[in-house]
Amino acid sequence: MLRQVRKMHVKAIKMRWLTGGVNYSYLLSSQDKAHSWLIDPAEAVEVLPELDEEEMKCIEAIVNTHHHYDHSGGNVAIAAALKKKGISPAVICGSRVSPGATEIPDHLQEYQLGNLKIKCIRTPCHTQDSVCYFAKDADTGEQCIFTGDTLFTAGCGRFFEGTGEEMDQALNRRILDGVSEPNWDTTKVYPGHEYTKSNVDFVRRAIYQNPGDNAALDKLELFCRKNEVSTGHFTLKDELEYNPFMRLDDPSVRDAVGDTAGSMTRAHVMDKLRKMKNSM
Ligand SMILES: [Zn+2]
Repeated sequence: MLRQVRKMHVKAIKMRWLTGGVNYSYLLSSQDKAHSWLIDPAEAVEVLPELDEEEMKCIEAIVNTHHHYDHSGGNVAIAAALKKKGISPAVICGSRVSPGATEIPDHLQEYQLGNLKIKCIRTPCHTQDSVCYFAKDADTGEQCIFTGDTLFTAGCGRFFEGTGEEMDQALNRRILDGVSEPNWDTTKVYPGHEYTKSNVDFVRRAIYQNPGDNAALDKLELFCRKNEVSTGHFTLKDELEYNPFMRLDDPSVRDAVGDTAGSMTRAHVMDKLRKMKNSM
């Protein structure tokens, strides 16, 4: 008899696309769809109509990647809507600044969601309460990470509550170590916003200016020309190939920030890169 292989599910829900926020909320579900997390459901009016009765019934937690309103602003309204249906999810957040938070995970704390194992990776910088969630399906080997406004495809978030040093730690130590090297090439990245196209434009203008300079960037650029949605299509290994914020020792990145001698600290390169991106 054939064993049916079912997969973990990630449903991306667009929010605030008409007003330029281009945010994503995600419904992460176990293979049998009996257990789900609803991640960053900031806009109740946009998220609730995207969920059917079955999906709502299985939501065990509302989860925030950080406290900004365009990620956490729907916590209370969605918890209230679910409560009317007899569903009482936990509200897992990086800090009590997120409205309605009931659980604050420690760095590397793990949760079980049906057959999925989820590791909380605390990545302070964009906000001090930023958390990335690394989910793993031991049966199928599928893996993904929800990175909020810490890691974007070909970019990273602004340093609102942190430093270049902290962003280097967040991206290049905490995320990479938390996921661990053998998993980099199979871990799909689900960021908090669809910023890929503008990130690619920045990387192309500022760093790898010619096609052929970075083959992975060429591929990503082509993908963005043909597709509006890039979330979930690229892995951590892809990021390591084209994301300058994860390539701080690449001579092309050092050149771009004016460090031809290669003598700047990584934190300094990170700060310079972020400033260049901010001013574009
Ligand atoms: Zn944010």
